Amino acid sequence: MKQKKSIAILGAGESGTGAALLANWLGYAVFVSDKSAIKPEFQAELEAAGIKFESGQHTVEQILNADTIIKSPGIPEKAPVMQAIRAKGIPVLGEIEFAWQYRPAGCKVVAITGSNGKTTTTGLAHHLLAAAGLPAVVGGNIGHAFARLVLHDLQNPVPERIYVVEVSSFQLEDILQFRPEIGVLLNITPDHLDRYDYKLENYARAKFQVIKNQHTSDIFIYNGDDPVILEFMPKQVNPGKMIAIKAADYKNGVLRIGREYRFDMASTKLRGPHNHFNALCAVHVALALGADPARLQAGLEGFAPPAHRMEVVATVNGVTWINDSKATNVDAVFYALKAMDQPTVWIVGGQDKGNDYAPLQELVQQKVKAIVCMGVDNQPILTAFSNAGKTMIETRSAQEAVQTAGQLAAPGETVLLSPACASFDLFKNYEDRGEQFRQAVLSLTVNIPIS
Ligand code: ADP
Repeated sequence: MKQKKSIAILGAGESGTGAALLANWLGYAVFVSDKSAIKPEFQAELEAAGIKFESGQHTVEQILNADTIIKSPGIPEKAPVMQAIRAKGIPVLGEIEFAWQYRPAGCKVVAITGSNGKTTTTGLAHHLLAAAGLPAVVGGNIGHAFARLVLHDLQNPVPERIYVVEVSSFQLEDILQFRPEIGVLLNITPDHLDRYDYKLENYARAKFQVIKNQHTSDIFIYNGDDPVILEFMPKQVNPGKMIAIKAADYKNGVLRIGREYRFDMASTKLRGPHNHFNALCAVHVALALGADPARLQAGLEGFAPPAHRMEVVATVNGVTWINDSKATNVDAVFYALKAMDQPTVWIVGGQDKGNDYAPLQELVQQKVKAIVCMGVDNQPILTAFSNAGKTMIETRSAQEAVQTAGQLAAPGETVLLSPACASFDLFKNYEDRGEQFRQAVLSLTVNIPIS
């Protein structure tokens, strides 16, 4: 009897677990190995499916017995287990590749990548397609793993399914044949460079994997103003249709496509030119997949942006409080400050990744009234803006930062949490930071005196 083909899956987060469930259903002998503790909900799923796994260790000999390895995006090539796998020459692929290989016939895949704006654009593209009545589902790097979506559809087929998947550069590193019918590249700015030998070129190359296997029938939508994209665009590209989006296409809050289409962003909840750019990418995706243009304006208006991204938390005593906790790099803050149209008290700081704050200096001059630092070590921010001539106050919790910002902001002004840094010094993650900020802001409303 022919033995079942075996797959070892490294990492049992959402993508590893999704891949394990799909591989198991397809009839592979599956072994899952995670060096960290596997979350109880994923353990329960693996157990229920009868999949073998180990938590808190890698038994390298067992992993090396597999015919194929599926590796989670978080595991770097430098990890000893990966080096052993490479030395033995076992084929390695990512969960996105694996899911794509087993995607149902007749489906289409939209892959959205970039340094900033992936989640917003992916969510909006899905929302517009669904609002237009098309059978779209969303996942990848957000929500459900692509493999989980594919498994669901293999079990319960949906004709002409559209997968809208957010893909990170880490996920794109491990593709072989993955070929989205539509690829979107939003921007490339320095981030995660530690994983790329501190070379922007290596990071850019990973992002451009999104079009590597595209054919002439495929579409590539990209930021036509992004200097890094333009610099590293491969000389020979395969997608048949290239859509370069430029600032003139979304200026003054109006999205324009040729002479034919106009969409007004003023009546939507998407704030700032960067979000208008994201929206235009999403609109192009929807139109390319056959969405009825007449339904798109209402679709844009009905979209609630994901939490912690330029989210208006409340207006208290005339001060507007915005939570942009997801802004973990300088570029995201650049666009957040750009979107400010009132004097702004800026809450910034956290775990600094060696940021260069120079691109923010001019905007700080124009838009920022005072700087509230919120981190264990605020020195990088204090140093970077020492010559800006702004009030700078150090705080060490969300509560303290909100109290301080509340004292500095006058009615008609804005307080913006847009930290430019990771959150792990004071918070569990960016969601925790945004949530603590929200709670602190909402507790201000409780104290408003009744006149
Ligand atoms: P990602 O999934 O790529 O991290 P998000 O949609 O979660 O992107 O947004 C992350 C941060 O980047 C937020 O602070 C958001 O305001 C900002 N942002 C969103 N779109 C863009 C863009 N096109 N360019 C720059 N910053 C952006």
